[in-house]
Amino acid sequence: MLYHYIANASVPSTSGRTIAVIDPSDGQPFEDIQRGNAEDIATAVSAARQCYETVWRKTPAVERGRLLARLSALVLEHGMELSALEQRDCGKPTKQAQADTLALARYFEFYAGACDKLHGDTIPYQDGYSVLTWREPHGVTGHVVPWNYPMQIFGRCVGAALAAGNTCVVKPAEDACLSVLRVAQLAAEAGFPPGCINIVTGYGHEAGDALARHPDVNHLSFTGSPHVGTLIQQAAAERHVPVTLELGGKSPQIVFEDADLDAAIPTLINAIVQNAGQTCSAGSRLLVQRSIYEPLLERLGEAFAALRVGPAAMDLDVGPLIRQSQQQRVWDFLSDAQVAGIPVVAQGQIVEEAPESGFYQAPTLLRDVPPDHRLAQEEVFGPVLAAMPFDDEADAIRLANGTDFGLVAGVWTRDGARQFRMARALRCGQVFVNNYGAGGGVELPFGGVKSSGHGREKGFEALYGFTVLKTVAIRHG
Ligand code: NAD
Repeated sequence: MLYHYIANASVPSTSGRTIAVIDPSDGQPFEDIQRGNAEDIATAVSAARQCYETVWRKTPAVERGRLLARLSALVLEHGMELSALEQRDCGKPTKQAQADTLALARYFEFYAGACDKLHGDTIPYQDGYSVLTWREPHGVTGHVVPWNYPMQIFGRCVGAALAAGNTCVVKPAEDACLSVLRVAQLAAEAGFPPGCINIVTGYGHEAGDALARHPDVNHLSFTGSPHVGTLIQQAAAERHVPVTLELGGKSPQIVFEDADLDAAIPTLINAIVQNAGQTCSAGSRLLVQRSIYEPLLERLGEAFAALRVGPAAMDLDVGPLIRQSQQQRVWDFLSDAQVAGIPVVAQGQIVEEAPESGFYQAPTLLRDVPPDHRLAQEEVFGPVLAAMPFDDEADAIRLANGTDFGLVAGVWTRDGARQFRMARALRCGQVFVNNYGAGGGVELPFGGVKSSGHGREKGFEALYGFTVLKTVAIRHG
């Protein structure tokens, strides 16, 4: 049985109710978490407020940095344990779970170093004045975290919020929150004061909604579905608090005829099968110049057919999806594709050892997907790649920008001028040229436009979002 973690202590929910945590690899429950409610959220917010007012707002930036550095070191020390938790909870193959743990440590390391480098400006103004700006924390920040990368998303938003001087209340996803609870314990071990980091588990419509509506939360960050993002934004609008939203995408990978295909192919595949396609930045649309459409699909088809899917602990190419409803969602998309006559080029193989009760989905490559079909427009959040041809640069840009989303785009071309033209023309938050994701570097600001959300996570930019700028104008004597 696991409890909330509030003010550096394990606390049961006042609801007296729990939620069973399911292992996606076999569909069986293996742990219980608290089913948090509005009362638990109020307790956590009050602890965060108390810590902010009495300790954290007075803690020097350099000391905040030292604590984050210590936490980063503890994450590495407990790396195997955290990876194992994340692996079982989310169904991640070992190498993915370990990469996520390293990324968590890197977030804390990066923000440890950034704490005492966050400063305002002095502004030349009229004679007799001194004008300066201060970057001040919001106070208590609320974070609603999804299940696809619990540790990474916790690290990127909580790391930045703490570095900027806020105290945090986190509502992780009911499907996967074990690692986050453990990291909060490690933070206490690292020396973070009680109330600095508070975790309340539970359902979104209960604990998550209560956090979004709590009157003493000064900033909200959310990663998840566009639908819930809208609810969070509405709740925040009622209290006029700022919000950072990261809502996923339908990101294109665009391959021109002059691309280095040997370099591109493994990346094109990884961008859609990593984490079983349950990645906000998944490269889920493949736009290929018509002259190389057939040969590239042939090569990709062979590679897809060789992909193996199975239990997380087998550490294959792809693990299970998070839960049955997510599996059903992918099946619905694929059955729509069948009805529309969209051809399947190839599918990976689910290994014999995979229990029937697990949530497995073979990676699927579809071709000639009509640009207006829902497979080319909506986020599947599964390992399904929708390929379509394009004729020229203008056509590629029209197709790439032709969805409601705008998170990431990948461009493969050797033509330097085209690299810049495409990067300018694509309406999204990140463009990756001749790579996809740039290795996930924590330094690189990340976020969307259009329905992919607003505000920026990661890098130094996130720190600005977790602060408010105060302008001070002093008239001398
Ligand atoms: P979701 O948006 O419902 O869940 C994300 C988080 O929001 C969870 O912690 C959840 O408990 C919380 N939540 C849910 N309802 C809430 C509410 N009313 N108020 C406050 N918090 C609430 O996502 P899901 O249903 O688990 O997945 C559905 C789809 O969302 C996926 O298929 C995918 O397309 C998208 N998604 C995107 C990301 C991403 O990284 N951008 C992550 C998860 C899911």
